[in-house]
Amino acid sequence: MPQLPLPPDSTLGILGGGQLGRMLSQAASRLGFDVVILDPQPDCPAARVSRAQITAPYDDPDALQALGRLCDVVTFEFENVPAASVETLAEAGALVAPGPTALAVAQDRVDEKTYLNAVGAPTVAFAAVTTLDDLTNAIAALGLPALLKTRREGYDGKGQVWIRDAADAEAAFDAIGRRPAVLEAAAVFQRELSVIAARGRDGAVAVYPLGENVHKNGVLKTTTAPAAVDTATQGRAEAIAAAVLDGLDYIGVMGIELFDMGNSELLVNEVAPRVHNTGHWTQDGCVCDQFEQHIRAVVGWPLGPTQAHARVEMTNLLGDEVEQWRALAAEPNARLHLYGKHDARPGRKMAHINRIL
Ligand code: AMP
Repeated sequence: MPQLPLPPDSTLGILGGGQLGRMLSQAASRLGFDVVILDPQPDCPAARVSRAQITAPYDDPDALQALGRLCDVVTFEFENVPAASVETLAEAGALVAPGPTALAVAQDRVDEKTYLNAVGAPTVAFAAVTTLDDLTNAIAALGLPALLKTRREGYDGKGQVWIRDAADAEAAFDAIGRRPAVLEAAAVFQRELSVIAARGRDGAVAVYPLGENVHKNGVLKTTTAPAAVDTATQGRAEAIAAAVLDGLDYIGVMGIELFDMGNSELLVNEVAPRVHNTGHWTQDGCVCDQFEQHIRAVVGWPLGPTQAHARVEMTNLLGDEVEQWRALAAEPNARLHLYGKHDARPGRKMAHINRIL
């Protein structure tokens, strides 16, 4: 196993070569590391700014062996990494961060909420649903409206359906493919916030100021940060983040999505054991952004500063919105971050712009 802290010149592997992998790779190369990307799509966005790409499925044992041998540390840009892949990487001699427990917790919405509540991070009331009978009982227990979500593999509002009337329960269960699910009580929140937090190899925790998020059609549209919150709310978010990260012995950056219920009461919606879209504002609002922070954590360097030196509004550019790049590049107080994706399919995250407020 490699000695920590890893010196510059070491090699870092990233599973996943989308925009998050690309921005992680850029941050790593700025610190002197070489980066190897594993992604099934040839010429993926991250590979074009990295030293090398292994082009193979994420569960290909030979590819994982090769990545683990090449790299001192391996990390991820997404949470749905099979546990067996983590084992193969570790067997090949690489340190892997975040660890398998954090991935397992984040892959299953019931396990996630159970864990969160156990460490004192409150969530909405919920019930596990495997059968239509379970769903009927859950509706009786939680009341309506309620939100039915698949336990695994939902993102950006996919795999979830609102139930407003008990008569619609079966149709809702059909709509999510009768897969194992969780029924969630409706959160009557004032706004959606998120907090980006990091934990280093020495157990130090660093938390960025809260961001306020606006979604459109289930997809993040803007994050404004630091959010206009009182110190009690920021303090509460920091306490939640520390409990969640410490409880997992977590290494790296985590994104924690929150519902602001008013009176400094926060509920955790979900956690992502990786850099997060709602943390992109840190690239232009902080000295050490979430990508560098994640690299610092996984290679065993001290964590960087998290205070904001500017207020930033981050806007995602989806699909053909990226064609406005000429006008956006001409804005005086903004920084455009393009992901180098060739194909601007509708709804695809193509770029973001950070406007200094
Ligand atoms: P998720 O995929 O869990 O992040 O949910 C996507 C979006 O649905 C969230 O950002 C909220 O706007 C909304 N949402 C999710 N869960 C709930 C809930 N229990 N109550 C109210 N709104 C929710």
